[in-house]
Amino acid sequence: MLDVNGGNVHALRADLHSHSFYSDGTMSPGDVARRAAEQGVELYALTDHDEVSGLAEASAAASACGLAFVPGVEVSVTWGTTTLHIVGLGVAGDDAALRDGLAHVRSGRTRRAREIGESLAAAGIDGAFEGALRHAGNPQMIGRTHFARFLVQRGVCRDVRDVFKRYLVEGKPGYVPHRWATLAEAVNMIGGAGGVAVVAHPARYRFDALALHALLEEFRNVGGTALEVVTSNHTPDDVRRFTQLALEFGFEASSGSDFHGPGESANVELGRVAELSPELRPVWHRFI
Ligand code: AMP
Ligand code: MN
Ligand code: MN
Ligand code: MN
Repeated sequence: MLDVNGGNVHALRADLHSHSFYSDGTMSPGDVARRAAEQGVELYALTDHDEVSGLAEASAAASACGLAFVPGVEVSVTWGTTTLHIVGLGVAGDDAALRDGLAHVRSGRTRRAREIGESLAAAGIDGAFEGALRHAGNPQMIGRTHFARFLVQRGVCRDVRDVFKRYLVEGKPGYVPHRWATLAEAVNMIGGAGGVAVVAHPARYRFDALALHALLEEFRNVGGTALEVVTSNHTPDDVRRFTQLALEFGFEASSGSDFHGPGESANVELGRVAELSPELRPVWHRFI
């Protein structure tokens, strides 16, 4: 049981969204856990994309430094024509259906990566597939972040943020549409493994109010119960907007940095996240 500051669950330093090199982070799960503890995080989740193999190492490292740990995952979903991310918190990493489901979600990545390489070659950038592969700690999980690091290293772009404006996104070189899990599959995989499903970084999708309501309604209908209200790429305005939506839909609220590694994005650091509004029910009441 965690000793929560004077019983104030909201004030707990929780960071429930982060990545290791088992997906597209740059650090080992153990190093991420130790860094979280150094940054003053009190409750920490590793949520690698479509992969749970780093959880055992993260859990051991967290317990060695007295940090409370929540095993997590971030599942890639195709909803209409948009890619969404659904975080699962409190999942059993050894759940066979979850592991099989995630293996299936991962299975198209290598082929997609070759196509991204071909698309970049057509735009005059050669060797991108091989270059991205060198950045992928887990070749099965090769993704756009690894291409982004390659493009920065090659001097094509200033930083990763710049890459996602000029390349790899719809309408730009290196964009390859891909079909991931359905929303229901992701929520079922997470729920079946004992976890709670959270819509990750909802502002990232740039939905209008109508599409956002449609998504949240469908998410709730298939069994989703939480919304990531606070995350590094949310502005104070976004936080206010998603606080209202969480209240309107009766969702619990989550908070996480979406840390991928030191220096990867300016101002993204483990534990560097705003406090949730006192009106919200923090999803971590389940884990303390
Ligand atoms: P993939 O799953 O291969 O499509 O890659 C998606 C990953 O790219 C995300 O998990 C982020 O790490 C990264 N990413 C996507 N969009 C952005 C963005 N606008 N800025 C920075 N990183 C991004
Ligand atoms: Mn990522
Ligand atoms: Mn994400
Ligand atoms: Mn993430």
